[in-house]
Amino acid sequence: MKVFKTVKTIQDYIKLKKCRGSSIGFVPTMGYLHEGHLSLIRRAHKENDISVVSIFVNPTQFGPKEDYKKYPRDFKRDEKLSKQAGADLIFYPKVREIYPEGYRTYVDVKDITGTLCGASRPGHFTGVSTVVAKLFNTVQPDVAYFGQKDAQQAVVIKQMVRDINMDVKIKVMPIVREANGLAMSSRNRYLSAKERIDAPVLYESLKLARRLIKAGVQDVRSIRSQMSRIIRSKGSMRIEYISIVDKDNLKEIKRVKKDALIALAVKVGKTRLIDNIVIKGGI
Ligand code: AMP
Repeated sequence: MKVFKTVKTIQDYIKLKKCRGSSIGFVPTMGYLHEGHLSLIRRAHKENDISVVSIFVNPTQFGPKEDYKKYPRDFKRDEKLSKQAGADLIFYPKVREIYPEGYRTYVDVKDITGTLCGASRPGHFTGVSTVVAKLFNTVQPDVAYFGQKDAQQAVVIKQMVRDINMDVKIKVMPIVREANGLAMSSRNRYLSAKERIDAPVLYESLKLARRLIKAGVQDVRSIRSQMSRIIRSKGSMRIEYISIVDKDNLKEIKRVKKDALIALAVKVGKTRLIDNIVIKGGI
């Protein structure tokens, strides 16, 4: 497995491989890898000649009061885990390599970035789409793998790729969870022992919503209020949003009839966690 730190070196290497007919699978990450990331890397490895992982904590997607500085980082561990999962190349640039002095260009996907996480994280998705566009231009993947964990991110990236004719296929893979249902996240390491015990209530609330819908409940207000009740039953939770939206355009719906995305963001103590499920076909 090779590690590249500059755009030019990885671009040149990949150009050569593509000339020789190799297909490229790509997994962008912010590192501190867990099973969720590794599931994407394994898939990229399985489906392509060369699998590339990027590890870059992207400053432009963090707000001024967010956790950019303290975001967990452990490159040696990530290197080992990536290799075990079948990665062929790691792209591990410094911030100045991606955003050199005088950097001025941003990619801004409209409308679908103002809801859900975008409502409380202004500018977040501009940072995400900008870095993903730059990484795509650097790695030139045939296929890029994203997690359903960040459902809105996946919708935004698909929209960007479609709108500006990027020649890459986007595959969205299922959420990998702990045995207790908690969605895996690099941020789970911030949780205290008590918060770790409480945090699976987020998935419990999503499963409750699914049961209600299967039992014929269509009214979104009623589903949301029952979800918030069980989340609030754990002391340390502050709900940022619980939204039930169309899974493709992220517009709020009033009644669950067809495919719906139920997404939430909750502060567990000081840690902001997100989770979601897709309800197929409504009822
Ligand atoms: P991050 O390092 O948080 O930017 O995540 C990198 C990629 O891994 C994104 O496409 C995420 O959606 C995906 N991912 C993160 N957590 C999970 C998970 N628990 N299951 C599946 N994919 C995940």
